[in-house]
Amino acid sequence: MSLNELYREVILDHYRAPRHHQHVDSPDGTAEGKNPLCGDEVTIEVKLDGDVVAAVGAIGVGCSISQASASMMAEAVDGKSRRQIDELIRKFKVMMTIEESDEQVVNTERPGAALGDLEALQGVRKFPVRIKCADLPWITLEQALEAAE
Ligand code: ZN
Repeated sequence: MSLNELYREVILDHYRAPRHHQHVDSPDGTAEGKNPLCGDEVTIEVKLDGDVVAAVGAIGVGCSISQASASMMAEAVDGKSRRQIDELIRKFKVMMTIEESDEQVVNTERPGAALGDLEALQGVRKFPVRIKCADLPWITLEQALEAAE
């Protein structure tokens, strides 16, 4: 199996069986995100315990990239502190913006390495229109966290 095939399998797995695809009891913060270009919609709910995400819900409809990204994002941030989440967001953004011509940088920094399943989304950056799909759950998460403060 090639790396691209592996990535596609991981994305389809999250799309077919999305994690945290349920409402959170009395959430501290909620945000709705839309990507009209693709018709993606995602609602993110967070419950905080101090500055730790104690529960996260990611519910939405849309393309496989947006919904898989929501599932992976929810899995990645569950149980994490605000600082850890900020670091995840930073790494995700770096991964999604590195150009093919920067292959040397990819090999040395390997920004995807610490991101687990999220690494599967790096193939998306070859398709700029779809980057908005992958970004949507993360932007919405940031809004939900802001609403919780
Ligand atoms: Zn989409």
